[in-house]
Amino acid sequence: MKSYLLITLSLLLSCSSVKKTDTQAGSQLLKDVEVLSSDAYEGRKTGTKGAEMARVYIVSRFKEIGLKNLPDISNYEIPFTFKDNKGDAIQGKNLVAYVEGKSKDMIVVSAHYDHIGIINNEIYNGADDNASGIATLLKLASHFTKNKPDHTLIFTAFDAEEAGLQGSRAFVKNPPVQLDNIKLNINMDMVSHNDKGELYACGTFKYPQLKPFVFSENPKIKIILGHDDPKLGSNDWTNQSDQAAFNDKDIPFIYFGVEDHKDYHKATDEFKNINPSFFTNASEAIQEITQRLDHQLYLKSVINEKKTIN
Ligand SMILES: [Zn+2]
Repeated sequence: MKSYLLITLSLLLSCSSVKKTDTQAGSQLLKDVEVLSSDAYEGRKTGTKGAEMARVYIVSRFKEIGLKNLPDISNYEIPFTFKDNKGDAIQGKNLVAYVEGKSKDMIVVSAHYDHIGIINNEIYNGADDNASGIATLLKLASHFTKNKPDHTLIFTAFDAEEAGLQGSRAFVKNPPVQLDNIKLNINMDMVSHNDKGELYACGTFKYPQLKPFVFSENPKIKIILGHDDPKLGSNDWTNQSDQAAFNDKDIPFIYFGVEDHKDYHKATDEFKNINPSFFTNASEAIQEITQRLDHQLYLKSVINEKKTIN
């Protein structure tokens, strides 16, 4: 009787500890969005105090998670300059960190942290666009520091996406790692706000070899492949976020994002208007797919290597 009681007790305890960790990961995900999209960050426009505050927060999270700096880079920062539409020189800063894998082949996991700032005295907080992508990137970083990946994973928080994909263009123009070693880009931009439970994964039209791996076992989320056929015109999302810079170098990509919603690029894109349960499921699915792609592409590369040796 006593041992039954003990078993029951320990089962109960282990269940509750699993639940606790899940909730902790979930609440950290939401907390990251809430902080980055709060009014104090003033809409995180490139070159402003709000963008600097966002960097301080992301750097502190990188450190907390235990991400490494690339050689010769301190505080994860890689500055770059570009001209805005008035011709003024603006400085942006990408934040780049990594988790070492088994292979020197790399996957760049990316999301932009900038948004559009203050317009007519209104703060555009950009909760979905793209505090949600950064929070998911931090979730993945935390997961892969505890579960060693096959590829080396480069976690990149891009600046100046809203100014015309400037951060990602600067990254591929002056790459901090060998571009040839980058086998895939997984980019996230707007992953927390959809009423129908639908998350798009775009990229398999041009890179059909990725198709078998882009699905989720979680029935609560619909992963839809699409928005990547050039025939769709403006509904082809290939060039609409930072994955474009990688695609231009023929680096395969999967871009995760939702359909535009009523709060897109409005002051109402706020924390209170995202869908927390959709977001949690979406971020889990992105983690699941990233893990699968990391492993399956690695297996393929090992098989190919053996073929060339024999
Ligand atoms: Zn965006």
